[in-house]
Amino acid sequence: MSNDMSQEDKSKKLAEALLKGWKMLPETCPVCGSPLFETPGGEVICAVCGTKVILVQSEEDVKVEKQKLILGKIISDLIRYLEREIYEAEDNLSNERIDRINLMLDAINKASSIYRSLSHQERKHK
Ligand SMILES: [Zn+2]
Repeated sequence: MSNDMSQEDKSKKLAEALLKGWKMLPETCPVCGSPLFETPGGEVICAVCGTKVILVQSEEDVKVEKQKLILGKIISDLIRYLEREIYEAEDNLSNERIDRINLMLDAINKASSIYRSLSHQERKHK
């Protein structure tokens, strides 16, 4: 792509991208240094030179993503155990069973709150 594009042309391309409803990102194009845009289709593209870029998540984001995945699985497992416990109990809720149910509810609660704080942390990053 030409490097001799005038500043005016560049501005026009940026304006066009915004008019198309593309979202401007904080990252810049590795080729020409212009701001990158995210299209409604989720593609990341340079509005000036047309370079398509794949943004790599930061290591921290990947880690948070993994933790959320694991927590999500723990929560759904716990809910399944809980459902089984309640189903098996039918009409006779022994104290032991109530204790187990309470422990599970506690664990679900804790896991959910960690999950929420991870999501919050992630939003802050971006
Ligand atoms: Zn570019």
